[in-house]
Amino acid sequence: MRLEGKNILITGAAQGIGKSIAIEMAKEGANIGVADINLGTAESAAQEISSSGVKSTALQLDVSNQSSVTDAVQAFTKELGSLDVLVNNAGITRDTLLMRMKEEDWDAVLNINLKGTFLCMKESVKIMAKQRYGKIINISSVVAFIGNPGQANYSASKAGLIGLTRTVAREYASRGIRVNAIAPGFIKTAMTDVLPDNVKDEMMKAIPLGQFGTPEDVARAAIFLSSPESDYLTGQVIHVNGGMYM
Ligand code: NAP
Repeated sequence: MRLEGKNILITGAAQGIGKSIAIEMAKEGANIGVADINLGTAESAAQEISSSGVKSTALQLDVSNQSSVTDAVQAFTKELGSLDVLVNNAGITRDTLLMRMKEEDWDAVLNINLKGTFLCMKESVKIMAKQRYGKIINISSVVAFIGNPGQANYSASKAGLIGLTRTVAREYASRGIRVNAIAPGFIKTAMTDVLPDNVKDEMMKAIPLGQFGTPEDVARAAIFLSSPESDYLTGQVIHVNGGMYM
């Protein structure tokens, strides 16, 4: 039980990588806040998670909306008593080539993936600084490092997260807050299921380990970054990509 009694808030946790992080962390003894844009799916995920005997609460949250973020972070902390770990996982794609990318495609992705993380961090560090303890994990992507045709908005948002991670890590290290990122490669979820087979085939060719990752592969890195085993890490990026980028 590496996370016994830790209170962990995960955004976009109703499905995919976020849900897997929630389930695996609950198995390690953590209490989980399942925060998602869709309250119905968040509630079913929270119910599933509480079957492992931990506390699990569902929260409606739009990470791109300041007041929604304030409400969710405060409700979580009031209910569980502290905020030990924040996982900024909520993210979207609006893929198309640069020439066809509309301003609204750019704004939607940057608002949720980058501004959403900024808002959630800003609200959470207020609580963590008072505790003189906290861990923040930002879910970036391999495309932040290697780029990907059709993902100008997405790769920019995920690269922005790296600068944000390192800056906040420096700003809050003295308060006992560690801020790190995970950059997953190609992980099998609803987000990647919709990609055409020819795109998936091309991706596979670029993975030295010859297989796509699973949400559990990312969850294991998140558990490490949440546990005392990683207490001497801050401002770092863990790459979970089968060797796609090295
Ligand atoms: P996913 O299955 O689409 O899950 C994302 C979750 O975030 C969904 O439950 C979604 O809700 C929720 N969400 C969307 N907008 C939100 C908002 N404004 N506020 C709160 N929640 C919101 O995606 P995933 O594949 O698990 O990806 C999770 C994270 O990993 C993302 O940040 C993604 O960029 C990153 N990542 C994924 C991969 C991959 O290969 N899958 C690779 C690298 C990085 P709805 O579905 O109801 O809109």
